[in-house]
Amino acid sequence: MNSQETASNRLDALIIGAGFSGLYQLHCLRDKQGLNARVLEAGEGVGGTWYWNRYPGARCDSESHVYCYTFSKELTEDWNWSERYPGAAEIVSYLNHVADRFDLRRSIDFGSRVVSAQFSESDNGWCVEDHTGQRHYAQFLITAVGCLSSANVPDIEGLGDFAGAWYHTGQWPHEGVDFAGKRVGQIGTGSTGIQAAPVIASTAKHLSVFQRTANYSVPARNHVLTPDQRSDHKRDADAIRQLTRSNSNGHGWRISDRRALDTRDAERQAIYEKAWTTGGLKFRSAFSDLLSSKQANDTAAAFIQGKIRNLVKDPVTAASLADIDHPYAAKRPPIDTQYFETFNQDNVTLVDLRKTPLLRVSENGLVCRASNSEGHAVEQEYNLDILVFATGYDAITGTLLRLDIRGRHGVTLKQAWSSGPRNHLGLQVAQFPNLFMITGPGSPSVLTNMPAAIEQHVEWISNCIAYMKHHNYTLIESPETSVDSWVNQTNAEANKTLLPTVKHSWYLGANIPGKPRMFMPYAGGLDRYRDICNQVAIENYQGFEFS
Ligand code: NAP
Repeated sequence: MNSQETASNRLDALIIGAGFSGLYQLHCLRDKQGLNARVLEAGEGVGGTWYWNRYPGARCDSESHVYCYTFSKELTEDWNWSERYPGAAEIVSYLNHVADRFDLRRSIDFGSRVVSAQFSESDNGWCVEDHTGQRHYAQFLITAVGCLSSANVPDIEGLGDFAGAWYHTGQWPHEGVDFAGKRVGQIGTGSTGIQAAPVIASTAKHLSVFQRTANYSVPARNHVLTPDQRSDHKRDADAIRQLTRSNSNGHGWRISDRRALDTRDAERQAIYEKAWTTGGLKFRSAFSDLLSSKQANDTAAAFIQGKIRNLVKDPVTAASLADIDHPYAAKRPPIDTQYFETFNQDNVTLVDLRKTPLLRVSENGLVCRASNSEGHAVEQEYNLDILVFATGYDAITGTLLRLDIRGRHGVTLKQAWSSGPRNHLGLQVAQFPNLFMITGPGSPSVLTNMPAAIEQHVEWISNCIAYMKHHNYTLIESPETSVDSWVNQTNAEANKTLLPTVKHSWYLGANIPGKPRMFMPYAGGLDRYRDICNQVAIENYQGFEFS
């Protein structure tokens, strides 16, 4: 690294990503602390996850009045959400509004994809290279790349032979896709597939949904917000903020103290019925023991499976949809708008890949292994014009690893995480000084309402940097001992729950071939995590080392 070049244009902080995290981080460092901070963003606009995820039906599962920043009363006051759950386009509009309101765009380089980041021992800072070869120098490097930004297109034989068009939901064309008159195949029935299928089916000639693992889903019960509901949210904004900052999940509700196993059958059933009618992720707040006791969880599972069987008219299809192999909410629980009802339409077919495994993509569509009336294996081809991959992401670590980040002595993040992600408080990796991760592995992130987790992380990182500036420290790093301790705590919290018991969960990296299997988010709750982080700060950032 040329030290003259470094000194002349070195930033205080370089932030990667202009989604919820990056925008707020920029505001905190540039506008509140007067630091020289910049954002590099691969997309041509703000929005992060929501910039790319424009698939049919894309909508947030958090309610709009909590899926937003809380740091500015004026911002809360002057923004009006239109629906109970914000759609992707409205979230992008919101983030554009934030970027304009706080004049953030002038400090963001759009269309700038980071290809490498190298820590320099001589400069105690980072050299970050973008796809054009331009180098950017900064004391601090902050990743704000989201948890679900590296699309997973499974390696299915023959995809190159397909004569039709194919798309991954996380890289959806901005001009949209016209399904009218088309035979569409959708692979994947996670949160995304469950949102997309009803919308695709509303215009497609035919939709075939290829399901490998059946999934729970609870009705979202989305609706347009009334003027009264909007003004209630504004009037109660302080209380809502206090709630999302003090509960375990960052949503606008607390998980009940009541235990399913201590509740009599009829009462438990009535509670589930009420939660089903209310709809949304709040269903999981019905009882406290749903994620700690398999027996308790079975009661929720049986309730939802019963609903699926009632909603779907064809008994064979209903049985496949209700044949769920994991505890409720042990995978991220989807919520839907008419998902199960969609299978009652004449133009929709469920293909159960557990009965008829997917063999390959052909020129005409997808080929599965079925059996004929004599029980002999035969190939069954589904002719398709469009193939939609709702197959998820190389979640949490995928994008971080693709950035080719190198710490002390050139050690790569891939090497440091060869057995799974390891860091201190989800924020810092040993041997990678002055690097902070927002909502990275080891933090509550995806187990919470994301903006709540993001605000907590950004504020903690900003305070830490302010502390360093105040004390004239130039370097912060986490020793291995702190990392070991946090990894042990993260594992211990996960093991108290049913979360690590799921076969194909992306929480564990188990959806990506070859990815080390390790439960990645911190499962002890955002409230506990916040307390731990605050205590560390109060104790002069105990567990971190400064120089
Ligand atoms: P996902 O939960 O990982 O689901 C991927 C789906 O694709 C699963 O059904 C999976 O089956 C299937 N699949 C993957 N590879 C396959 C293969 N080779 N053959 C057949 N099926 C295959 O991904 P997602 O639905 O995109 O959701 C990811 C996360 O994004 C969510 O959990 C949520 O956190 C977030 N999200 C949020 C919202 C929201 O807030 N509204 C909306 C969408 C997504 P298996 O289960 O068998 O692996």
